[in-house]
Amino acid sequence: MLRLSGLSKTYKTGDAALSAVSLDVPKGQILGLIGPSGAGKSTLIRCINRLVEPTAGEVRLGEIDLVTLGSADLRRQRRRIGMIFQEYALVERLTVMENVLSGRLGYVSFWRSWLRRYPGQDIRRAYELLDRVGLLEHADKRADALSGGQRQRVGIARALAQEPELLLVDEPTASLDPKTSRQIMRLLTEICAERGLPAIVNIHDVPLAQQFMQRIVGLRAGRVVFDGAPDQLTESALTEIYGAEDWNAMRKGDEEQAEAEADAARRLAQVSS
Ligand code: ADP
Repeated sequence: MLRLSGLSKTYKTGDAALSAVSLDVPKGQILGLIGPSGAGKSTLIRCINRLVEPTAGEVRLGEIDLVTLGSADLRRQRRRIGMIFQEYALVERLTVMENVLSGRLGYVSFWRSWLRRYPGQDIRRAYELLDRVGLLEHADKRADALSGGQRQRVGIARALAQEPELLLVDEPTASLDPKTSRQIMRLLTEICAERGLPAIVNIHDVPLAQQFMQRIVGLRAGRVVFDGAPDQLTESALTEIYGAEDWNAMRKGDEEQAEAEADAARRLAQVSS
């Protein structure tokens, strides 16, 4: 269980990016974080593993408050938190397998990692994970030979190789087309459910969040302004999160994109008929 209490961050520039955010994320819950650009979503995710240092508040993962830890303890505790990134953050010239195994780096000795000699059980486990994300036959390919959706599957397998107790996921589908985005979200939510793994997903796509998240938290100007089930996310809640102007602009953008997709599909059907 993750418990955030009074989490705040003011950057040196004076920007109050987070103001006293308190949230409990129980085991197995997948929580979508939505809100306009600049609302503090990335800051929140980064404060949890202290890639950004919080100004005040607590981040409890189980019994341990991560905010108070010194650097050696923090390094050990960070193993408990898997991260999945928008741009995948793979090592392009390494193979899919090597990228997945790099999720074990926090566990193996310096020499083993330097020589890239991983224990047999790590390798067996990496094969199982590649099988789970549907990439077993691509294990020996270089990461740069994969499509965007396949790369994100490697990113998921690498995070799982860490055997995390919490997943932090930063805009996992921002670089993917709509169909691949849905496949990736489905895979992520299934895996979290199978393992009872809690996750916080920073997600800018509201319909995708509504379809896949169990709980949605809306941030605006560093504060939680919505916390509820996807079906409680009404027009008025969305207006509260995004402001009337931005919400209407976003909706219009979605409609235009849906029209463009329908148009492309029609043209494709004409060409192939
Ligand atoms: P979101 O992810 O919702 O777009 P961010 O967490 O990136 O929001 O940003 C929240 C606020 O903090 C914004 O006002 C942003 O300008 C500010 N901010 C983010 N990162 C930094 C930084 N490194 N230095 C100063 N201000 C920052």
